[in-house]
Amino acid sequence: MYKSHNALGVARAMQPVAPVTLVRPEAALDAARFFTSAFPGKSFYAVKANPSSHLIQLLWDGGIRHFDVASIAEARLIRSLLPEAVLAFMHPVKAEEAVFEAYHSLGVRIFSLDSHEELAKIVRATATDGVNAADLTLCVRLKVSSAHSKLSLASKFGIGVADAPALLLATRQVADALGICFHVGSQAMSPAAYADAFAFVRAAIVEAGVTVDVIDVGGGFPSCYPGMEPPSLETYFAVIERAYEALPISYSAELWCEPGRALSADYSSVLVRVERRRGNELYINDGAYGSLFDAAHVEWRYPVRLVRADASEAELVDFSFYGPTCDDMDHMKGPFALPADIRPGDYIEIGQLGAYGHAMRTGFNGFGETSTAIVDDEPMLSLIPEDGRPAIPDNVLPLTIRPLTVATRR
Ligand SMILES: *Cc1c(COP(=O)(O)O)cnc(C)c1O
Repeated sequence: MYKSHNALGVARAMQPVAPVTLVRPEAALDAARFFTSAFPGKSFYAVKANPSSHLIQLLWDGGIRHFDVASIAEARLIRSLLPEAVLAFMHPVKAEEAVFEAYHSLGVRIFSLDSHEELAKIVRATATDGVNAADLTLCVRLKVSSAHSKLSLASKFGIGVADAPALLLATRQVADALGICFHVGSQAMSPAAYADAFAFVRAAIVEAGVTVDVIDVGGGFPSCYPGMEPPSLETYFAVIERAYEALPISYSAELWCEPGRALSADYSSVLVRVERRRGNELYINDGAYGSLFDAAHVEWRYPVRLVRADASEAELVDFSFYGPTCDDMDHMKGPFALPADIRPGDYIEIGQLGAYGHAMRTGFNGFGETSTAIVDDEPMLSLIPEDGRPAIPDNVLPLTIRPLTVATRR
């Protein structure tokens, strides 16, 4: 992979015509070390945020030993890269064949479920010669509110708190370890999301009267984007730890989390070229079908900066972007603040695209080509503290919580 100090070095050396993913190994290592040292439990990397094998190796090097996979392909990938990793198959609706292969060939012992049908499926697929598996950790996925999050995960999965006790009791019968998991939605802008979810967890445990061995708070840990500066991750961890300690569970219980975005967002940015300017609209060579799906479909605003040898003195103006395909939907509203004199041929670095950026790229309309380069400057915005202190002070919290635009995906 080509190496340079920063985006400008890459632009000068490669003069790339297609978008270039700029990866920052140090940022991934920092994020992994941060979660391994600061989260008061085990951190499972949610592979769907970015399945790059380079990133996965870095997270391992930074101390991540647990991986949340949602498909059999993700399970095979992690097993092939990391023979020692612990895998959790946390999609609540799985093909029976996938459960069979995960258990019998890939060493997966942790599964999630949110229905009696899925429980029966897991029991069938993990049995050997008609004898049920005795080493399963089964996590019942509870439905919780996504009210504090930018991307909802509240409608598709999860059993309601009223129906949860029966499923918990049934699961307890066949599980070696019983867990409760939930997902507050992605980019949870307030730690209150987790505190609220714990109220549901408590109610379900009390009502079912079962012994619970694992509490898995899922993902949702936020990254920093323009206009979205959440409180520090330490604040989230403190709220979670307090709520967890107050649950009626055994002393040997474990606390888990499944960060996707927070472990991967800083890892990469994308270097794009301006092909045309029409007023304050820039036609760039990456878009909704490339790494900017969320910018187009949920109006995510990524940090941007002009990459030009002689820095522009012009004032910053708001731009929107059009991607390279022929589709009107290939439009990123932004606004993205860039110097007023930006022109075709200029390069732009779009930051924080390590999560749900490269992972969502398609080849639609023939624009799938990309390359990768390694850079060693700082990520454009980061919530992972460099020296153990939060990068963003906690007191920004009341000022920057914005009205929620809740869309439904993942
Ligand atoms: C998507 C997902 C995650 C990761 O969510 P982030 O918001 O990226 O942290 C974790 N767990 C499950 C079950 C998911 O579906």
